[in-house]
Amino acid sequence: MLTAENRTVQVGSVKIGAGQPVAVIAGPCSVESQEGLDSIAREVKAAGALILRGGTYKLRTSPYSFQGLGEEGLKMLCAAGKSYDMPVVSEIISENDIEKYTKYVDMLQIGARNMQNVALLKAAGRSGKPVLLKRGMSATVEEWIMAAEYIINEGNPDVIMCERGIRTFENATRNTFDPAAIAIVKMQTGLPVIADPSHAAGNWELVEAISLAAIAAGADGLLIEVHDHPDEAMSDGTQSLKPGNFTALMEKARPVARAVGREM
Ligand code: PEP
Ligand code: MN
Repeated sequence: MLTAENRTVQVGSVKIGAGQPVAVIAGPCSVESQEGLDSIAREVKAAGALILRGGTYKLRTSPYSFQGLGEEGLKMLCAAGKSYDMPVVSEIISENDIEKYTKYVDMLQIGARNMQNVALLKAAGRSGKPVLLKRGMSATVEEWIMAAEYIINEGNPDVIMCERGIRTFENATRNTFDPAAIAIVKMQTGLPVIADPSHAAGNWELVEAISLAAIAAGADGLLIEVHDHPDEAMSDGTQSLKPGNFTALMEKARPVARAVGREM
């Protein structure tokens, strides 16, 4: 059972959680090529991102959309992480893939669509890797915390929670960002909580405002989609920041972090 004691989670060389700097995870929605990924990794690292992300098994709404590069993409992500000295995270969509992922990534991401996939949660709990657990798109805070407990009860306390917006009547954003959930989950569980402003917004122009709000609400980190050519991205281009805008966001976020007693 979770207690309210504050925890930090170690992802490769990076510590996330209470008392740690606000950690930024950045990278493309999907890994598309080694060259493209390397270039994004170099740019986000220079701006201050600590962890590299990239999806390679994609859960798309349409079966006709790009489904990701699979294991080839994981190899590219692992290589880019080594080249730029960044731990890497990627979404896993099946419990049958655990062994494959543990070879290539420093943290497993369980996405909104799989937050209540109990078989996957339990397998992640036995994987020996930290787990980034996104909030389901229609999940209450309590359901989200129970999903974390499935992982923790398998003997893996290294869970990082990620608020990425929920479905409401409001359709001005892709999902409705819920900053209160960040504060509640931190208060009730002591787990690190990060925010994903990209999937909440669905629109790159809103990513900065949501990021600043998340840090002010106590987020221990951010997960932000970045692409060199968002117009040509294979997925989620409309919400992806160009590297220059990502750098500008990082510069604006640092004083907000300091205002709530955090480094960044
Ligand atoms: C993603 O991180 O690219 C993703 C699919 O996110 P979510 O599970 O939050 O929709
Ligand atoms: Mn995405």
